[in-house]
Amino acid sequence: MIVGIDLGTTNSLIAVWRHGEPVLIPNAIGHVLTPSAVSLDEKGDIIVGLAARERLSTHPARTAAVFKRYMGTNRELHLGKKEFRPEELSALVLRSLKADAEALLGEPVTEAVITVPAYFNDLQRKATKAAGTLAGLEVKRLLTEPTAAALAYGIGLNADEQYLMVIDLGGGTFDVSLLHCFEGVMEVRATAGDTWLGGEDFVDVIVHDFMAHMGEAAGLPPVSLLAPIHGVLRRQAEMVKRRLSEADEAELSLAYQGKDLTWTLSRDRFEMLSESVLARIRLPIERALRDARIKPEILSQVILAGGATRMPMLRRLIGRLFRRMPLQHINPDEVVARGAAVAAGLIGRSAGLEEIIMTDVAPFTMGINVSDRQPDGSRLTGVYMPIIERNTIIPASRVKPVFNVEDNQTAISLQVYQGEALMVKDNILLGKMSVRCPPAPEGKVQIDVRFTYDTSGLLEVEATVLNTGVTERLLIEGNPGSLSREEIEARLQNLTKLKLHPRDDAENAALMARGQRLYEQRLGHARSVIGDALTGFISALEAQAPERIRTTREHLRQVLEAHDDEPFI
Ligand code: ADP
Ligand code: MG
Repeated sequence: MIVGIDLGTTNSLIAVWRHGEPVLIPNAIGHVLTPSAVSLDEKGDIIVGLAARERLSTHPARTAAVFKRYMGTNRELHLGKKEFRPEELSALVLRSLKADAEALLGEPVTEAVITVPAYFNDLQRKATKAAGTLAGLEVKRLLTEPTAAALAYGIGLNADEQYLMVIDLGGGTFDVSLLHCFEGVMEVRATAGDTWLGGEDFVDVIVHDFMAHMGEAAGLPPVSLLAPIHGVLRRQAEMVKRRLSEADEAELSLAYQGKDLTWTLSRDRFEMLSESVLARIRLPIERALRDARIKPEILSQVILAGGATRMPMLRRLIGRLFRRMPLQHINPDEVVARGAAVAAGLIGRSAGLEEIIMTDVAPFTMGINVSDRQPDGSRLTGVYMPIIERNTIIPASRVKPVFNVEDNQTAISLQVYQGEALMVKDNILLGKMSVRCPPAPEGKVQIDVRFTYDTSGLLEVEATVLNTGVTERLLIEGNPGSLSREEIEARLQNLTKLKLHPRDDAENAALMARGQRLYEQRLGHARSVIGDALTGFISALEAQAPERIRTTREHLRQVLEAHDDEPFI
């Protein structure tokens, strides 16, 4: 069974193809959205998802989120005393999703299609693939998120030629992709976006307005101080934002120093205050159209993805820009995962996938550094020689020759780059290799450099010295952003030692995490009621008394519902 996974910055989902349609798999607490957050508990077990997100405020030093931003870099994040690379944290999320799928399907899950943003470069894609390996998943294919969104709508599954735009506004990233589908090829013609724009910016708008109207007068510390009260305020603002997607007004209430601050925000005002954020959404859309030289009228569809596109003001803006209503009947936060399941289903049935989505295109040009002989005999070094060009239909394999530039040169150093610029220094260095050279006069040693781009957009490099017939392969290694095969093996051993918090305890863990967060946030009477309910529950758990666990859990749940006006999401 191959699963489809949307490994998101804010939320991740897992889905399978069943009875002719994509089916989303709920996690241990029954939600299909699993927050991409990881926390280390006091026993050293790993907690993933909602409980981990709750622990962001109560145990910030043991919890990590938004690590997708660091994929393909060397940055390590701390959970307590342990350090994790971003692909390891992603692997823990994947492992948790895999366990959810196995619990539902009743069989081991070992293969997956994982989605990546269209703009992800080779390093970021390799890191995503490594995360899969670290989670015990063979990644059959990396699929770009906009392609997945299109597949979820059944687009690209027939030969009709069309252009479409996918607009994806997640928690903290905004991606616009222009797709061209023709004869079974799905080509990402242009991408644009803003990696620091998302649903969170709309929460900021609400927080600032509340501060200006109520907070400052009530003596709340300034937002930049990150006082605990701002954690509470942000969560309240998040709920207001979501309610305003449905209702004309929403109430925010915040208890602070014995005062109950209640404030109402109307949708009209929220939309007025959000104008500058909305303006930032316009620009990338216009740029993508311009880059691809496409007029909005030519687009056959506009597809919305990402939870933040649920906001009516966003839908109206898109409607105005394109003079049509976008496709939105599939839940925008589920559409990428559903598309991943469509792809997984196609691969599983080998249903003509070769003709359909196996033919994606290379999103970037890949090439090597060469030196260029000038008319006066001098050499200009650091010039880029493209080998596989952007928009080549993949899988693809291309060869280009390079020659020794000095008599009796003993080695030729090849540097592999990704990018479009003339000089290699302006492109992204992916790796280096040194190829041994037999003694010969300048220009008499020929090395054929072969680049192979597989269907996931991953690159392999081979260099063959024609004079000797020796072939060397480049392991993209020594690059700070990616792990070698051996390193992955070693890290796999370490990760396997870490235990995921038991699935059947997930609900208790989430309830405890929420209870602890509320206990830390509230004061006075509310705090002591929450504290009593929590200690009752903890002591029942310690006594391992099933009946008491059941009743104290129910009591705790009721207390939390009464003191936390957020739905448990
Ligand atoms: P990502 O792709 O970053 O993992 P998602 O697609 O899950 O993220 O989107 C998460 C964002 O969607 C959050 O900022 C959340 O507040 C926002 N969101 C979810 N539901 C709604 C809603 N009903 N109204 C407004 N925003 C929403
Ligand atoms: Mg997403």
